[in-house]
Amino acid sequence: MSFAQHHIASLMGRMKLDALLFWSLENIRYLCGFTGSDGAFILTAQERIFLSDSRYEEQAKAEIQEATFEKYKKKIEGVARCLKAMKVRRLGFEASALTYESYERLKERLPRITLVSLTDQLTNLRIRKGTEEIGRIRQAIQIASDSFLDALPRLKSGAREKTVGDFLEIRMKRRGAESPGFPTIVASGPRGALPHGKPTDKAVERKDLVVVDFGARFQGYHSDETKTLVLGKPDSRQKEIYDLVRRAQDRAMKAIRPGASVRRIDAAARDVISRAGYGKFFGHGTGHGIGLAVHEPPTISPRGSGVVEAGMVFSVEPGIYLPGWGGVRLEDLVLVTEQGCEVLTYLSKDLKNNIV
Ligand code: ZN
Ligand code: ZN
Repeated sequence: MSFAQHHIASLMGRMKLDALLFWSLENIRYLCGFTGSDGAFILTAQERIFLSDSRYEEQAKAEIQEATFEKYKKKIEGVARCLKAMKVRRLGFEASALTYESYERLKERLPRITLVSLTDQLTNLRIRKGTEEIGRIRQAIQIASDSFLDALPRLKSGAREKTVGDFLEIRMKRRGAESPGFPTIVASGPRGALPHGKPTDKAVERKDLVVVDFGARFQGYHSDETKTLVLGKPDSRQKEIYDLVRRAQDRAMKAIRPGASVRRIDAAARDVISRAGYGKFFGHGTGHGIGLAVHEPPTISPRGSGVVEAGMVFSVEPGIYLPGWGGVRLEDLVLVTEQGCEVLTYLSKDLKNNIV
């Protein structure tokens, strides 16, 4: 039994559910293989049913594994009919994916079924990656890295952030990505202080620090990486901040091993930055899990909970953002192994290799 199957079986037993209703495309894809953009998935101890409309009939029949297909004209009606026919009594549903409106309409049509909202109980479903999933993440990383190297010569004084970002995204598609994994960030000079700076028409200038956060989506799986580059010789402040972030990232990576708490890993990075007096300029968590979604469990932050285990893949991305000056963020993806972790992203984060 896989980790996910085990997780589901124990959840259904614990909560006394006779069926689960999945609504999010990530979980649907994960559990039955459907890659389209609309549908629902019902799972009981005996049955697995994927439901969608006629637009997806052929695709679903070709893609779904160990599940039967049922066609509906209207989603809520179709799902309700199916649940009634299966004589479900207690149904767990994905509370974060079903809209309130859909929930109300479903409830109205299923007066005899108890609907049990699932949130935290489901979050860890995809947390441990299998070999095939890790292979796809590696492919996404390869595509994104090659595309970054294609775009690098364009990153020079006078180039607009947006032009560089657009080019990088086009290259990812050319190199086989389904799409960029998320909107690429190119933030130069003082704009680097915005952790999620959208590329603008601002031209990159000499002496700027440029934060580039990019990732590709390959067969549903994402990569996510951030490089910070310096245009020309870095000054002492740029060096100081860059080295600090680099050390913080390194400390966090060294703290990763099965059984290490997510807070401990976050603290390893945060302590380096805080001790140097920049704690309040590192406003986000140290990392996030990644897979079919760009952000998924585990959450590596002071507010996170639990420990990491072999097979988890997450980012390690400390940063320092100084208003009016700019920012440095370094992000790599790691895979937790029995001994520690393997860094999956491979573009150098040494300052000397990031001067353009
Ligand atoms: Zn990122
Ligand atoms: Zn990230």
